[in-house]
Amino acid sequence: MLPVFFCLFFCGCNVREVNRTDTGMGTVLHIRLYGQGDCDGVSGEILELVREMESEEISWRDENSVIGRLNNGHQDAEVPDLLYESLVTCKKLSEDSKGAFDITVGKLSGLWNIDSYSGGRTDMDFPLPTAGQIQEAMLNCGYQKLILGEKNVLLEGGIRLDLGAIGKGMALDRIQTLLEEQHDGVSGGVISLGGSILTWGTKQGELPWQIGIVDPSDTTSYVGTLSLSGAWCVSTSGDYERYVEVDGVRYHHILDPRTGYPANSGVRSVTVLSKSGLLSDALSTACFVLGIEDGMKLAEKYNAEILFVDERGELHLSEGMKPYFCLWNEKE
Ligand code: ADP
Ligand code: MG
Repeated sequence: MLPVFFCLFFCGCNVREVNRTDTGMGTVLHIRLYGQGDCDGVSGEILELVREMESEEISWRDENSVIGRLNNGHQDAEVPDLLYESLVTCKKLSEDSKGAFDITVGKLSGLWNIDSYSGGRTDMDFPLPTAGQIQEAMLNCGYQKLILGEKNVLLEGGIRLDLGAIGKGMALDRIQTLLEEQHDGVSGGVISLGGSILTWGTKQGELPWQIGIVDPSDTTSYVGTLSLSGAWCVSTSGDYERYVEVDGVRYHHILDPRTGYPANSGVRSVTVLSKSGLLSDALSTACFVLGIEDGMKLAEKYNAEILFVDERGELHLSEGMKPYFCLWNEKE
C-alpha cells in the first residue's frame, strides 16, 4: 500500500491546487484539482467513489461484488443500470473486434495470473501454463456465452468475467459525472487511474492539459504529449507495465482470447483518446490485440483517436490524433 500523499498549494486569485495520491482498483490513483472551492473535499469523494465501485460492483476478486457474485453462479445478482450498460457495450465491442476484446477471459487471465506481477519481473519460477491448460481455459471463455437478458445477466458454460480492461475507464466516466454535478467550486482537474486519465474543465489561465505518453522502451521517458482542453479520456495499454520474463520471452497481461497467449500483434503500446472513459479503456486493450491496421479501423468506428507505438519504436497516429500530439523531443 502506498503512503497517502496529500498536499495543498495556493495559486494566485484564490485558485487552489490540490494533489492527492492513493490506491484504487489495484493501481495508483492521482487526483489533481483546481478551484476556489472545496477541492480537498471533492478529492475525498472521488477516492470513495473509486473504492466503492471496486468493492461493490466490479472486483472479480471480491466474491461479494456484483461481478464476484455473477462469477460464482448467483444468477439473481442485481446488476446496477450503469454496469449493465457497460456490459452491453463490451459485448458489442467483442463482436466488432471479432473476439480480440473479450471480458469473459476470466478463466484464461486467472490461469496466466500476470496481473500479480506488476512492474515486470524475471522469474524462472513463474508457472508458465501448459498448452493443455490454455486449451481447457479457452473452452470456458467466449462473449457468446455472456447472456444479457432483461436486466439480468447469465454466464453460460462456466465463463468468468474479468473487467480489468474497462474498470478504470468506467470509473473515469463516473468521476466526470461527479465533477459536473458538484457545486463546490472545483473548476478543473486531471485524474489518473493507472494508464487511464481524465482531463476536465480548466486550470488557471485556460492553458490546455498536457498528458505524457510513456516510451515503452524507456518508461522513464515519453514519446510525446497530448495537449487537451476540457473533458477527455485517454487510456494506454502496453506490454511494459505488467509482465514476466522467462528465458528472454516477455509474457504480458493483455491476452489474445483467440490464441490463449499474450497478444503478439507487433505493437508495444496503444493510446486511445475518446470522450468516454469506458471506450478509451476498452479500445486501448482491443486495439493492442488487433494491431495497427485493424485497430485503426475499430477506433474509427467508435469515433476515437488512436496512437500506436510499434515494436521498432515507430509511431502510427490516426489523422484526428495528429492535432493533439507533440513529439517529446520537439517540446521547447
Ligand atoms: P491495464 O489494466 O494495465 O490498464 P488494460 O486496460 O489493457 O491494461 O487491461 C488489461 C487487463 O484486461 C488484463 O490485466 C486482464 O485483466 C484483462 N484482459 C486481458 N486481455 C483481455 C482481452 N483481450 N479483452 C478484454 N480484457 C482483457
Ligand atoms: Mg483497457
